Amino acid sequence: MPTIFSRIISGEIPSYKIAEDENHFAFLDINPVTPGHTLVVPKKEVSYLFDLSDSDYTALQLFAKRVAAAVEKAIPCKRVGVTVIGLEVPHAHIHLLPINTEADMDFHHKQTLPAERMEEIAATIRANFK
Ligand code: AMP
Repeated sequence: MPTIFSRIISGEIPSYKIAEDENHFAFLDINPVTPGHTLVVPKKEVSYLFDLSDSDYTALQLFAKRVAAAVEKAIPCKRVGVTVIGLEVPHAHIHLLPINTEADMDFHHKQTLPAERMEEIAATIRANFK
């Protein structure tokens, strides 16, 4: 049974897509901790980030670096914070969050934003992805 992220990657489930390449996919977290909270995932289904091969792990981090640069340009913030949790979805992924304070990394504060706002945020990040 494919993971929810594989179903997003295949287009079966809609997402606010940010970017993709041959092996990676980035999209907005549906319940952002801060506006612009983005998930970066390998297309290959591996449950745990640290079970990725060295080359797949490195490639994912390099793709995440490009996504983080786009997030930082698109969303006014001091830094893009990086978190790995992986307790909910068994498909390796990296959380990227635009932050201004340490408290902005608090995963107890997930929000739901209107669809139009999510699409607007995704479009702005997409426009800055290189
Ligand atoms: P975790 O596996 O604990 O790192 O958390 C998984 C993250 O995926 C959570 O922050 C969820 O809000 C997010 N998430 C779950 N389902 C979706 C979805 N369909 N689209 C976007 N993000 C999702």
